[in-house]
Amino acid sequence: MLKTLLLSSLLLIAQTSTTEKQFRELKNKLEKSGFQVIIELPPKRGAYGLLQEGTKKIWINPVVFDLGIANQTLIHESVHAAQVCAGNGKIRTLRLKIEPINYARPLFMRYTDVHRQDLEREAYAVQTQPNNFELAVNLLQKYCQQSVQ
Ligand SMILES: [Zn+2]
Repeated sequence: MLKTLLLSSLLLIAQTSTTEKQFRELKNKLEKSGFQVIIELPPKRGAYGLLQEGTKKIWINPVVFDLGIANQTLIHESVHAAQVCAGNGKIRTLRLKIEPINYARPLFMRYTDVHRQDLEREAYAVQTQPNNFELAVNLLQKYCQQSVQ
């Protein structure tokens, strides 16, 4: 019993540190690509994350750490960052061949602007993949880091 408890808390610690490591790694990649990551309430009420195209600022709502969705949120915003890089400052879709899982549909279907809907579909598609972290890192490398050393 004690052994099991100990083992599961060790596992939890291991998982937590992987999560934190991935968050830091992705944040670093974004910053190397010229984005500023700010852990503060986004200027848009109720948003977990927000990317402002013009200033290349990314807000991450501190509440996502308590909700356990910090990485998902940063991954989502990283896809938007790659979209900004791909369009050379003007956000565009990456034409990825992955679809978001069904439960995410209402999340991007609520956007009435069709262009916005496509951008969001892509961000949710990446975010909901089992290898979402690797995908986000690869997209940043592919679209944002060609000209950065
Ligand atoms: Zn989004």
